[in-house]
Amino acid sequence: MGVAQSVRGSYLDLIDARRDELIALTQDLIRIPTLNPPGEAYLEICEYLAERLKKRGFEVQLLRAEGTPGDSDRYPRWNVIARREGGVPGKCVHFNSHTDVVETGKDWTKDPFGGELEDGKIYGRGACDMKGGLAASIIAAEAFIDARPDFAGAIEISGTADEETGGYGGVAWLAEQGYFDPSRVQHVIIPEPLNKDRICLGHRGVWWAEIETKGHIAHGSMPFLGDCAVRHMGAVLQEFETTLYPALANKHTAMPVVPEGARQSTMNINSFHGGQAEPEADFTGFPSACVPDSCRMVVDRRYLIEEDADEVRQEIVDILDKLTSERDRFSYELRELWQVSPTMTDEDAPVVRSVSKSIEQVLARKPEYVVSPGTYDQKHIDRIGRLKDCIAYGPGILDLAHQPDEWVGVDDMIDSAKVMALSLEDLLGA
Ligand SMILES: [Zn+2]
Repeated sequence: MGVAQSVRGSYLDLIDARRDELIALTQDLIRIPTLNPPGEAYLEICEYLAERLKKRGFEVQLLRAEGTPGDSDRYPRWNVIARREGGVPGKCVHFNSHTDVVETGKDWTKDPFGGELEDGKIYGRGACDMKGGLAASIIAAEAFIDARPDFAGAIEISGTADEETGGYGGVAWLAEQGYFDPSRVQHVIIPEPLNKDRICLGHRGVWWAEIETKGHIAHGSMPFLGDCAVRHMGAVLQEFETTLYPALANKHTAMPVVPEGARQSTMNINSFHGGQAEPEADFTGFPSACVPDSCRMVVDRRYLIEEDADEVRQEIVDILDKLTSERDRFSYELRELWQVSPTMTDEDAPVVRSVSKSIEQVLARKPEYVVSPGTYDQKHIDRIGRLKDCIAYGPGILDLAHQPDEWVGVDDMIDSAKVMALSLEDLLGA
C-alpha cells in the first residue's frame, strides 16, 4: 500500500467513525427553525455553529448584515464565519452553506423541525437544502484537521443568511465586506444538494423586468371611448408566442444545464395584472364597469452564457417598439427589476480538479459536471468577490428541496464528507 493509498484510507475510516456524530449534528441543525422569510433563529444557529467550531480550534466571527433587506432588531441577519489556520501558510478552502430554509408548506407526514431518522434518512425542512451539506462539510473539515493538524493554509466554514431570498443579508454582504476577496480565500465549495457524484460549475443568468402597457379609462359600456391596456398586453403576449418563444427555444447552450429542458433560453411570465385590483376575499359586491388604463406583466427570463443582458433586454424592446409602430395608441414602459450574469467555473479550475479526483476515489466513477438552471450564492462570490474558483458540491437530491417530507440520506452525507476531506487533502495537504 503506497503512502497516498494509506492517507486516503485513513480519511475514509475517520469519516465512517463519525457517522453518529454526523447524524446528531444534522438533526441539531434541522431542529433550529431558521425560516426565511422572515429570517427566524439566525443568531441561534450561528451561535450553535460558533460554539462547536471554537472547540475545534476555529477562530469565529459572528457578523450581522445590518441594514440589508429584511434586517431588523426582530429579524437580524446574522452570519458566522469560522477560520482554522494550518501549520504553515498556504491557500484557503472555504465551505459556504446557507442556514435559512423555506416555509414548510402542507402535506408533511413528519415533523418538519424534528430531524427524525428513519431507514437511513433524516427528515426535516432544510435536511437536503442544505443543513445536510453543512453538517457534511463540518465533519469533513474536522476529520481532515485531526488527521493533519499542521496542514498548509486555512479552512473556513461559513453559515450565511438569506440565500433563499437572494443572499443580500448573507453572502452578498460578506463579499462586499471583503470576506470573499481572492487574497483571503482561494477555493470555495458550496455544499448545495446537487447529488454526491455531480459538480455544479455555475448557473444561468437572470433578467427580470416589468412591462406596463398604457390605456385610457372610460365606461365599460362604451369601450370605444377608452383604450384597453389589457388588449394591448394581449398583443404583446401574441408576439411572444409567435416570435419570442420559438426564438428562445432555438438558443442552445454549451453549458451542461440540468434538467435538460433548461439547456436553452427560457422565460416565465411571473405575474399579470390588468384593470381593477382584485377585491378582498370577503368583499361581496360587484366590479364597476371600467376600461383598464394599465396592465402590468413581470417576466422572468433565464439566459445563457452565450448571451448577454443587453441582448436579452433588446429582444423585448424590439417587440415593444414593433407594436408601438404597428398598433394604434400602443405605449409601454419597461422597468428592469433584477439581473444576474451567468457564471461557469472552468472544468480545469483547481477546486473542480480536486473534487473530481476525490469523487472518483470515493465512488469509483467519474463525476458529472452540471450547471444549475437557477442561481445561488455563487453569483455573489463571482461578481462581488471576484473569486472564480468556486463550485457547488454536496449531498442530497435536488428535487427534494422545498418539498414536503424533505430528507437527506446518511450514506450520501458520509460519501460527500469523504469527498470533501480528500479534496482538502489534495488542496491543502502537501
Ligand atoms: Zn439551497
